[in-house]
Amino acid sequence: MEPRVDLHTHSHCSDGLLAPGALVALAAQRGVGLLALTDHDTALGCEQARAACALHGIRFVPGVELTGSWRDREIHVVGLNIDGARPPFAAHCARVLQLRRERVSAIAQRLSQAGLPGAALAAEALAAAAPTRAHLARGLHARGLASSVQAAFERWLKRGRPGYVGAQWPALELAVQCIIDAGGIAVLAHPHRYRVSHGVLRELVGAFKAAGGTGLELSLAGMGPGDADRAATLARRFDLAGSIGSDFHEPGLPWRPLGRFAKLPERITPIMARLGL
Ligand code: AMP
Ligand code: MN
Ligand code: MN
Ligand code: MN
Repeated sequence: MEPRVDLHTHSHCSDGLLAPGALVALAAQRGVGLLALTDHDTALGCEQARAACALHGIRFVPGVELTGSWRDREIHVVGLNIDGARPPFAAHCARVLQLRRERVSAIAQRLSQAGLPGAALAAEALAAAAPTRAHLARGLHARGLASSVQAAFERWLKRGRPGYVGAQWPALELAVQCIIDAGGIAVLAHPHRYRVSHGVLRELVGAFKAAGGTGLELSLAGMGPGDADRAATLARRFDLAGSIGSDFHEPGLPWRPLGRFAKLPERITPIMARLGL
């Protein structure tokens, strides 16, 4: 069997459930031969993941998923082959993680005002290097205060709900530059998940390319054939390579399984070529 590829995964350094070593062990079980760890706004798990990959004979790509903004929308940029120790990158992540801690604390205050155990929920979330709303949602679900993690988002945490607090994420262009400064290449994450018209998505991809972006996620778990076709058309138009990943967060979610086949649409350069692989 051809080795699988996964260039978009999360560990417990952000909102994944597995430690980097456990993530790698699962990847090995699933036949993954090329793996990137791409936690939200931190590369902290990469050294552990690299060591575990060496033990399992998996080729490892150190990565990150930076949170950015473009025209007041939240946009995610995956960085691949980054050197997380470079000072500009480390400083960027430190600023965003501080923003995340402040945001989680502000959300927790709102939840407390609504009679929920905000302080305890915040303490759990703040134990992660990159605290997220997903931590708070899991805490609400674990206490029986929401019937599912999804329900916690719907009732409390998504935009327009009582616990929602926005954030001023760094500009898309800054996120891309930060990845380049760390020696890596930038990939626009999950283009099908931004709720914008096709015309606006084309402008976003154009802005990403102009900022120095290299790739676009074209084979992501949960992407339908129509989504993939539209994204592939944009990748060809802007000469972007195609990336492959799952956006894996936890083993219990069958719709985001770890490890994917390396197949990409026709006339698309695989991102592996841009990684020198
Ligand atoms: P944050 O970056 O703090 O806004 O947290 C968002 C994280 O929560 C994302 O990275 C997703 O993994 C997860 N998430 C966002 N929206 C939902 C949702 N509706 N249901 C379940 N998980 C979600
Ligand atoms: Mn996440
Ligand atoms: Mn994302
Ligand atoms: Mn992700």
